[in-house]
Amino acid sequence: MSPSTVEMVANLIIYIFIFAAGAVIGSFLNVCILRLPRGESLVKQNSHCMTCGAYIKHYDLIPIFSWLILRGKCRNCGAKISPRYMLIETLTAVLFTCVFIKYDTAAYGFLFPMFACLFLAAVIVVCFEDLDTKSMSISVLLWMGAFAIGETLTALFARQSGYIESVTRISLTDRIIGMFAVSVPLLLIGFVITPLIYVYVISDDHKERRKLLKRLSSNLAPYDENRVKSALAKVDERIKEQGPVYGFGMGDVVLMAAAGLMLGVKAVVTAAFIGIVLGGIYGIIIKSKGEKAEETAEPIESAPIASELSDSAPALPTSSSPASDRFAFGPFLGIGIVTAVYVGNAVWDWYFSLLG
Ligand SMILES: [Zn+2]
Repeated sequence: MSPSTVEMVANLIIYIFIFAAGAVIGSFLNVCILRLPRGESLVKQNSHCMTCGAYIKHYDLIPIFSWLILRGKCRNCGAKISPRYMLIETLTAVLFTCVFIKYDTAAYGFLFPMFACLFLAAVIVVCFEDLDTKSMSISVLLWMGAFAIGETLTALFARQSGYIESVTRISLTDRIIGMFAVSVPLLLIGFVITPLIYVYVISDDHKERRKLLKRLSSNLAPYDENRVKSALAKVDERIKEQGPVYGFGMGDVVLMAAAGLMLGVKAVVTAAFIGIVLGGIYGIIIKSKGEKAEETAEPIESAPIASELSDSAPALPTSSSPASDRFAFGPFLGIGIVTAVYVGNAVWDWYFSLLG
């Protein structure tokens, strides 16, 4: 065998190993996604069938393969097992392998791609949590931040020591700007601009409230004053029931701050752009579908699980709009982040080269 063949075979073995490790970690991520929002222990309980409760035998716990061999059915009762478990295992395995292909250990060392994989694992967990519950576990967001900090320190140390020349070419300044470049606008849009637009443009309740307050400030007969006051109390009750309306949740903000630290400003802006475009398209689709559903007077599917989570673990909501028109934005940002991990600054640089 020629040296290049040997190298190819060696690389292939490494990639197969990374793929397998990714699948095993993906299997653990499934447990996190399922149990963290319910405040259940990650280690104490063995995996069991959701239908018959039978514990799953160790030989049926091989990531990806077990689901395929059992054709997505419980060995004990034959109930269908969601393909989502297998898909998350495969997704994790593929993403990990792609990280190691893109950030070859010969050039980047082992630590950087490892931190990148751990970071992506945390992104997968919060995105699926967001999809299920419209919130993200604070603990996972903290881990995500820790991985981003770990990767930053690795990059700084590697550069300083000259041990590895090109860990990532993202400078510390670039990272710190990246940390705020998307998270601060999201914070402003989510918690200042959207609530203001909601209160002053969209909400009929708030419009009525302002009208009533105006009437109350003019001179009214005592009888009218009482009527206006009771109408006002009713409107206030409705507003209170609905709760405040935010554009994005704190989960989205923390997610993009961690991604910015990890990827630098160019890549995190790329990630946000991809997320907002995809999320916008999805938002328009569900809105038009929702209107159609209203026309045909079919009941609109309500958010699942959220109601069962009374004693759940600490989590940051990612949306608190009225239940009917809210959707999880995290997964779209997640797709943007995953893309940005692979393309890095390339999209930004290409775009600005077009502008001259
Ligand atoms: Zn079963």
